[in-house]
Amino acid sequence: MLKNLLNLDSRDLEEFFLDLGEKPFRARQLIRWMHKEKQQKFSLMTNLSQNLQKTLESNSTVETPRAISEKVAPDGTIKWLIEVDSVNSVETVFIPEKNRGTLCVSAQVGCALECAFCSTGRQGFNRNLTVAEIVGQLWFASKILDSNLNLSRTSMQENIVQPISNIVMMGMGEPLANYRNVVKAIQIMLDDNAYGYSRRRITLSTSGIVPSIDRLLTDCPVSLAVSLHAPDDDLRDQLVPINKKYPIKSLMEACLRYANRASVTDDCVGTGADVSRAKDYITFEYVMLAGVNDSTRQAKVLAALLSDVPCKVNLIPFNPFKDSGFKTSSLDTIKNFRDILKSKGYVCTIRKTRGQEIDSACGQLAGSFKDKTGRQSLNVPAL
Ligand code: SF4
Repeated sequence: MLKNLLNLDSRDLEEFFLDLGEKPFRARQLIRWMHKEKQQKFSLMTNLSQNLQKTLESNSTVETPRAISEKVAPDGTIKWLIEVDSVNSVETVFIPEKNRGTLCVSAQVGCALECAFCSTGRQGFNRNLTVAEIVGQLWFASKILDSNLNLSRTSMQENIVQPISNIVMMGMGEPLANYRNVVKAIQIMLDDNAYGYSRRRITLSTSGIVPSIDRLLTDCPVSLAVSLHAPDDDLRDQLVPINKKYPIKSLMEACLRYANRASVTDDCVGTGADVSRAKDYITFEYVMLAGVNDSTRQAKVLAALLSDVPCKVNLIPFNPFKDSGFKTSSLDTIKNFRDILKSKGYVCTIRKTRGQEIDSACGQLAGSFKDKTGRQSLNVPAL
């Protein structure tokens, strides 16, 4: 069976070439061909010797997932259904804004965590995505968007398409439940020979798998978005069931460790924890559910809860889906909630809902896959 080299980061590729009797610098060359040039044919990788090209052709491949559909919303949001095998597909979403373009990447086929308000969680779970399937979403989207960008430049169209400036691991699945593959895919996104994103421009969203948050801090401290959604354990146990395993107190302690140490290791920072920079690394996500978690009292409890953690808060108007059982809070209620947090000194934003017409708004991603869980029990995939 041919080895898909898109699954390998630079360290893996160096080992791969050493095993072939080649020098480690071949890894850099190959990464540039695969990710910068989007070249899949070894015979067109012109700085590799012909012998090496032939060897690679005989034992390897550069295989990316393919899109089986593309939907474009009136606001420019694009949703691709990406086929990852004969029975499963996942969703990848591009959200263009005035000064940036954000790609929302999936980490699993479905999700086993069953958050009460989440469309993906309702669909069940099939499997973890491979490194190639995760980074392949970026590979595919950047190839399409770069060619559209060039086209719009050359044809002098007014509608200049944004390139991908930010990546959020907020698509289908819990990224930290697919730890190894997600971290390796992020390492490739950070690699200057591949995509060269800075750590701040990649955000991993988690429902709060505490041991993996600590591990991420050591392995790859990118920005972290924590799906909090409730200010106390009683409510969070219902909305985000993983809370029963990792309650709010342990989650807050992990977030504090993360914010402080991620900012200290920031390339631009000298020494010592810098609270203003630490804030850049943790965002608490809070979906606004009418009559469930949006009262004035809950806003005050939330403000007190977060007081020790340098952070921002992002309020997300709930995006309804069929049989969800929830309604979104009114705009007045959301603004009141925001104002209470702001009055306590928090940076608090209300997320603009994008791509609702094509079911690509937050919590609406569903893909198309064979559920293996039957949703019988809470089942966190092995890390
Ligand atoms: S919110 Fe995230 S972790 Fe929870 S069920 Fe949905 S995809 Fe999974």
